[in-house]
Amino acid sequence: MKKRNFIAIIATVCFLSSTFPSSLSYANEGKEKIEDELQEIQGDKDKKQEDIKSIESNLDKQKKQLQETEQQIHDKQKEIDSQEEKLKKRQKQVEKYRKVLHGRLADIYKRGEMADLATLLEADSFSEFLSTYETILLVLDKDENLFEKERKQEEAIVKIKKKLEEEQTEYKKMQAEGKKSFEEYKDKLTKSKSELASIEKKENNIEADLQKIRIQEIKSGNFKFKGPMQKPANAPISSNYGWRTNPYPQMHAGIDYNGDTGDPIYAAAEGIVVRSEPASGYGYVVQIDHGEGIVSLYAHMWSWDVTVKKGEYVKKGQVIGKMGNNGQSTGSHLHFEVQKNNQRVNPAPYM
Ligand SMILES: [Zn+2]
Repeated sequence: MKKRNFIAIIATVCFLSSTFPSSLSYANEGKEKIEDELQEIQGDKDKKQEDIKSIESNLDKQKKQLQETEQQIHDKQKEIDSQEEKLKKRQKQVEKYRKVLHGRLADIYKRGEMADLATLLEADSFSEFLSTYETILLVLDKDENLFEKERKQEEAIVKIKKKLEEEQTEYKKMQAEGKKSFEEYKDKLTKSKSELASIEKKENNIEADLQKIRIQEIKSGNFKFKGPMQKPANAPISSNYGWRTNPYPQMHAGIDYNGDTGDPIYAAAEGIVVRSEPASGYGYVVQIDHGEGIVSLYAHMWSWDVTVKKGEYVKKGQVIGKMGNNGQSTGSHLHFEVQKNNQRVNPAPYM
């Protein structure tokens, strides 16, 4: 291409585009702004969801820590209780030795050392004999070692118990701090969740605005096809698009879905209803314009089962009617077609 020609084409294109400030381009500007807003809000939403995830993970950690500490406090208490048990026994023993020692000392003091042998022989049982004998030995030898030993052991237990109690106090402190932090995370989570809810509300509002704009676009007739199409019925296919030989060679220009009478029929994509009327062989038929010259057709319904009107906007998946047997049809089924610029085409590539 010669350079001059090229410049001429560019100039023409620029001229054309500059002389096309239609109302639609203004609408598009508004739409783009709203779309930007939506993107921003979706970014905020992602961030908030990340925050919530992290808070939940911290809560989980804190919860595990609390559980551990709880167990540690409980275990410590068991140790303390066992030391307490030991201490009680020891104290009883000490008390016993103290009493006996005291009593024996008093006796000895009163009756003199020789009287002890008589006491020993008066013992009722062997254990009393031993106990008395032991005591006598203690007293007689002036040996207070046993008593002292018991007392020292008592002291040792008290020390161990005290240490255990201190350790338990530390765990209890940890527990109190953990509980506080757990509560804080819980509050944070509540706050973040309510913030997320308000972000989602905003998102929904923006999406509703965009949907309104989209409906306006569709109603104005100048809009883009938003594919892919969905299945128009939840039923098995009984006949595909293409040539069939039975009962005689014939082109089948759509897809047949073999369902029960009354099964719902869904709009394959969003668009505007451009036809809703009886059409002899097709029975009652509905056609939806999806933009860019793409139209879908739904046949063999009964008029009373059709739930959409001509000129109505329909969402993808919206129920438009029920499966019937109206027209040239041997059994209840949906005959579904896709047209491109008024030519019936294979629906498969659009689905
Ligand atoms: Zn068919």
